[in-house]
Amino acid sequence: MATGYIGKILKIDLTDGQFVEEALNENYAQAFIGGSGIGAWYLYKMTTKKTDPLGADNPLIFMTGPLTGTRAPCCGRYSVCARSPLTGLWGEANSGGNFGPILKFSGYDGIIITGCSSKPVFLEIIDGQPIMRDASHMWGMDCYQTQQAIKAEAGLSKLSIACIGVAGENKSKIAAIVNDQGRAAARTGLGAVMGSKKLKAIAVGGKKQPKVSDGKAFNTAVNEAQNFLKEDISAAMFRLGGTAFYMDVGMMYGDIPTRYYTQGEFDVTKLTGATLSETILTRTVGCYRCPIACGRKTTLEKYGASDVDGPEYETISALGTLLLIDDLPGITYAGHLCNLYGMDTISTGVSIAFAVYLFEKGILKLSDTDGIELKWGDVGMVIKLIEKMAHRDGFGNILADGSRLLAKKYSVEDMAVQVKGLEVAMHDPRAFSGMAVAYATAPRGGCHLESDFFYVEIGQEIPEVGITASPRGKWTESSSEKAQAVSRHQDWRSLYDSLIICKFAGYSANLVTKLVNAATGWHITPRELLTSGERIFNLKRLININFGLTTAEDKLPKLLLEPLSDGGAKGQVPNIEMMLDEYYQFRKWDKKTGLPTHQKIKQLGLTL
Ligand code: SF4
Repeated sequence: MATGYIGKILKIDLTDGQFVEEALNENYAQAFIGGSGIGAWYLYKMTTKKTDPLGADNPLIFMTGPLTGTRAPCCGRYSVCARSPLTGLWGEANSGGNFGPILKFSGYDGIIITGCSSKPVFLEIIDGQPIMRDASHMWGMDCYQTQQAIKAEAGLSKLSIACIGVAGENKSKIAAIVNDQGRAAARTGLGAVMGSKKLKAIAVGGKKQPKVSDGKAFNTAVNEAQNFLKEDISAAMFRLGGTAFYMDVGMMYGDIPTRYYTQGEFDVTKLTGATLSETILTRTVGCYRCPIACGRKTTLEKYGASDVDGPEYETISALGTLLLIDDLPGITYAGHLCNLYGMDTISTGVSIAFAVYLFEKGILKLSDTDGIELKWGDVGMVIKLIEKMAHRDGFGNILADGSRLLAKKYSVEDMAVQVKGLEVAMHDPRAFSGMAVAYATAPRGGCHLESDFFYVEIGQEIPEVGITASPRGKWTESSSEKAQAVSRHQDWRSLYDSLIICKFAGYSANLVTKLVNAATGWHITPRELLTSGERIFNLKRLININFGLTTAEDKLPKLLLEPLSDGGAKGQVPNIEMMLDEYYQFRKWDKKTGLPTHQKIKQLGLTL
């Protein structure tokens, strides 16, 4: 087995409590790298179109990559994959903190969980010893209480724990998995998959260190990465302001969704990274071996909450600008509730904003909302609704399953801003047209991370692998070159999610290649790494087609194709049809079926 990996996967069947160790297949590791790449390969093998996302047969896959747990900076994330209960398609989320590296130190590259337990349990893996423990007394605890309880019972403060809160227990389709206090693998509702298996938590600990192939070359590459992060302006912005640094920059571009994606301008002075630093910030925190430390810890006197995690940019926008709220402590508290209950802050904010939008239009009435008046700018209402969503109480029971089902219930499907069932994230494709094709074709739906192409359009290009923004600077122009560049960027991001590298580390392709080769002993080029990303992206496409996806779902919601009357993206609408045509052609995907052609499948070695 190549170095970088531990070489072992742990398989668990919760129905009969059996553990099986399996060697990680070297050939598949090289083909699919790790993280969500290997996760996709297992999911492809283990599911059919009949797999119930909340059933025993849906595998829940936790996976690390060959750089996880090494000295490489910003490589401390883990992936979790399953069939998504929210979209019915490929489900994937990743999270930082320490869980990924410590999972590896516990003796495994990944864990694959099938079956359903008859009572609440948690899995403990310390130094290669997996044990299933009773979690009946933890059912009902929030994510922070759960982590504290497990550490106290084990008498080990150095455990890292990934767990679900009440939302996951209640199988909310927007439930998250939360680790290391408030770090969340939030998107696509994988907390509900964990809840359906009655698996409250996974606790890991251990001392096994992954080896690297060429220590000297690896140290040189690590030093280069550290020096890069010291000098990179974007890394400096994340360090100084957290992800909230983007609030005023993004508003200038017209990139920040406001008033349920219908308004282009909003005064964000009270929501910026600088305001956060001057008012509620207590300290900054970083994931494993991350010199950027974009994480924020805050104190909220009004709510009697201290050592609160966040808020991050996506949370401030989804629970703030999208609802015309500029009360930073209130938004932070709403985000904190999502962390406690284990909920995706993006899907939560977008679903609530959609409800307010429908209420304003008279489609929802007081009799639908348990008597709560839904209005813009009301953070108290948001807090109330989050409580109801987590507990599936009254109107919260509908909101807990996201905006697509809410739209379906009131027969207003074309009003919901979602793609393939996933609520669209906080970057507006009318501001950066590359995001239009990125959202329409992302394997998990309205996701900004499977290609955060807005960064490329701002200037974070990766020219060694052909990722450039053309025509440079004209971010609102749609072009066929842009569709091609988005396609390459999706491949590159699939690689990042497999290694796994944080996307805030804007390494050159050459530097990523040096880290990978020195860790694993492979001799691959940046272009070959890009091809690995393309293989993984196409595999996720095959999974989605198996689950019933058609090209009819490769589209943008109607609201995002209406021009805004104000703000930085005023009057702009991306030419999605033209870009999609170019995209399918470039990807060698059949426009009718959405399938990669036989030639492409063969070229990528995907005849599995
Ligand atoms: S930049 Fe932020 S999210 Fe990324 S690894 Fe560092 S602390 Fe974690």
